Amino acid sequence: MDYKRLDNHDIEMLKGFTAPDRFSTGESVKTLHSKDQSRHVCMLPEAVLWPLNESEVSNILKYSNEQRIPVTAWGAGSSLEGNPLSVCGGIVVDFTMMNRVLDVREEDFQADVEPGVIYKELNKRLRHKGLFFAPDPGADATIGGMIANNSSGTRTVKYGATRANILKLSIVLANGEIIRTGTRASKTSSGYDLINLITGSEGTLGVVTCATLRLRGLPAEFSAAVVSFPSVESAGKAVFEIIRSGLDPAALELLDRGCISLINRNTGMNLMERPTLFIEYHGPSISYIGEVMEVTRELCASSNSLDFRSGIGRDERDKLFSSRHRLGEMIVQNHTDCLFLSADTAVPISAYPEIIAMAREEVEKGGVTAYIFSHAGDGNLHLKFAGRKDNRDDWRVINEINNRVVSKAISLGGTATGEHGVGIGKRAFMAEEHGNSLIWMKKIKELFDPNGILNPGKIFL
Ligand SMILES: Cc1cc2nc3c(=O)[nH]c(=O)nc-3n(C[C@H](O)[C@H](O)[C@H](O)COP(=O)(O)OP(=O)(O)OC[C@H]3O[C@@H](n4cnc5c(N)ncnc54)[C@H](O)[C@@H]3O)c2cc1C
Repeated sequence: MDYKRLDNHDIEMLKGFTAPDRFSTGESVKTLHSKDQSRHVCMLPEAVLWPLNESEVSNILKYSNEQRIPVTAWGAGSSLEGNPLSVCGGIVVDFTMMNRVLDVREEDFQADVEPGVIYKELNKRLRHKGLFFAPDPGADATIGGMIANNSSGTRTVKYGATRANILKLSIVLANGEIIRTGTRASKTSSGYDLINLITGSEGTLGVVTCATLRLRGLPAEFSAAVVSFPSVESAGKAVFEIIRSGLDPAALELLDRGCISLINRNTGMNLMERPTLFIEYHGPSISYIGEVMEVTRELCASSNSLDFRSGIGRDERDKLFSSRHRLGEMIVQNHTDCLFLSADTAVPISAYPEIIAMAREEVEKGGVTAYIFSHAGDGNLHLKFAGRKDNRDDWRVINEINNRVVSKAISLGGTATGEHGVGIGKRAFMAEEHGNSLIWMKKIKELFDPNGILNPGKIFL
């Protein structure tokens, strides 16, 4: 596609759709909006705008569409695959000023929010009402970015990814038209599901200006266990057994030996330095989760667990899980001379032990540094590679391993990305994963965005 570079007239028009102090062509602002948390390097956007409401967004898109100016939406910029980066220049529409919680309907377990709301802030506000929004990517992500990437996290095994927690969306299409889709009913069989289409579309089909979220009741009781295993494979087998038993964990995370060693060094926890499962349960009473914990202990023992530490109550859960949440930060601090690649694939749960074993073998054979820590309960594998900054060999091997792990996941019936999205980094795998249905995805893109202005260069090669 041929896109237009901004000229003075465009700049004046776009400024007029927002306000002079919510429009910038400053180098530092553009630089800040040209990097997410991945290693992808793109050109600078030509301008950044901060709309305050839907009608401003609509005007910006209508004009950009007429002029063939690329538009990339921006949440918190915490993506790991280059998802919000401007591949073709144009403008970035930053949603951080559209950050109001418009309504909370406790009796219906629902909230209406603007896309710039940060989910952690929302949960702080909801806590005293006994409610929470369940999807939990680790970073300070916005609701708009979570919807666009269909993000998930540690609690997805019980509560589903973002997609399962959205009831209604307001969307501005490429031509500026505003549509509202979905209902406030908890289920529907009514027509095509545009919510599912938009969720995970990475801002390539439309931009989200309001979302009605499905909230959950905060559980009465929490419990957590940290369980060590002789091998990653035996831990993977325990994951399979726990899921098969129907125990319904609220988190089921697998950490390899290297992660545990880091946790011990940083927290003084003194865990056995073996592959380890972090498990969490939510339930209505202490006796209920006590029983669930006992069954978990037996299932882990049957997969040869070596050590089982459990705690009941929110404080105990927080103590055991706080190290899990800080792990990413610990890895970065431990390798100050390195850059990182967060690999992300997912497979059917029965194939989980196989993909883990394959990934571990590849890392050992390649002689590179990588930590395995995964949302194991939903078959989601993460490898965090650390490669020396200027070492081409490190990065060649890391990229080769990453490609082989992704292809293996697809061959096992899985996906190139469990939660980080396609962005730039996973485009090359789309044909392998989707076959000829990719053609229909392209047709959908052409229908929604015939001029290709919305986040060009993402999802499709
Ligand atoms: C330390 C760390 C841990 C992470 N852990 C996880 C994890 O456990 N699970 C997980 O899923 N992710 C994880 N991530 C990745 C990232 O946090 C998520 O993908 C997150 O949802 C991105 O949200 P954001 O607000 O930063 O969006 P951005 O990165 O700004 O944008 C993401 C995408 O959304 C689009 N977009 C933004 N706003 C809108 C809008 N209003 N309408 C339409 N499109 C829009 C952008 O164009 C882009 O394509 C992690 C990242 C970091 C740095």
